[in-house]
Amino acid sequence: MKFSGKNVLITGASKGIGAEIAKNLAANGLKVWINYRSGAKDADALKTAIEAEGGKAAVIGFDATDDQAFVEGFKTIVDADGSLAYLVNNAGITNDKLAMRMKTEEFMQVIDANLKSCFIGSREAIKAMSKARFGAVVNVASIVGETGNAGQSNYAASKGGMIALTKSFAREGAPRNVRFNAVTPGFIATAMTAILSEEVKETYAKNIPLGRFGEAREVAEAIAFLLSDHASYITGETLKINGGLLM
Ligand code: NAP
Repeated sequence: MKFSGKNVLITGASKGIGAEIAKNLAANGLKVWINYRSGAKDADALKTAIEAEGGKAAVIGFDATDDQAFVEGFKTIVDADGSLAYLVNNAGITNDKLAMRMKTEEFMQVIDANLKSCFIGSREAIKAMSKARFGAVVNVASIVGETGNAGQSNYAASKGGMIALTKSFAREGAPRNVRFNAVTPGFIATAMTAILSEEVKETYAKNIPLGRFGEAREVAEAIAFLLSDHASYITGETLKINGGLLM
């Protein structure tokens, strides 16, 4: 895949979808900045694995909900490399509960981890990338942000917000050649969905036209395309990656 930019920051890349995005983009020749919150060991192991394949990687730990820490992390990268060409706002959590039992703090915890972190990253990206008149951002939302889901009012609101935020940033970034797109994965096999029982997973899989959960690698491939030069005329888009579950 063709990339005019040289480096990328992926938030929440210590495991799951984020780690697969890092592997994909490193294999495509980008220097990848692997962000983690608590998974320092996983992030270091990923860096070692990427370098063993001949790729370039660096590890940067910060909590993406912490405004100051995120801004400082961004600055560290720009100071080291001169600029940042690509960002993937991937960090995310769930904390499921029926709305009638959900405390306001539990609602806000998920909004902060998913939506606030995406805002901070997008804001820092549009500033840095506007200067260079080049850049692309992909925000990892979710099918739940399109459909809603019982037990996930906090998660659905955060992911729906990310889709709307992406379109607003796309409008602000377009005059400066900075593209913003979102992806909305369906059920992907990672730690986030490993908590579901086998029975529940089978029931969900039956409703997916492609008949199975997606792999993190398959999400990473779509994100690589949206960041790449091949998607140079695509901005403000929400790309579904869900095996046909929502058409
Ligand atoms: P995962 O395996 O649980 O990984 C989540 C990652 O996010 C971890 O690396 C974690 O870092 C990081 N993270 C969480 N909060 C953070 C914070 N405040 N600051 C920095 N990093 C933070 O989840 P996943 O399935 O790969 O999910 C990745 C993204 O895809 C999420 O945004 C999720 O909502 C979205 N998604 C997933 C699915 C699915 O079916 N799996 C479907 C749709 C959308 P540490 O471990 O270092 O703390």
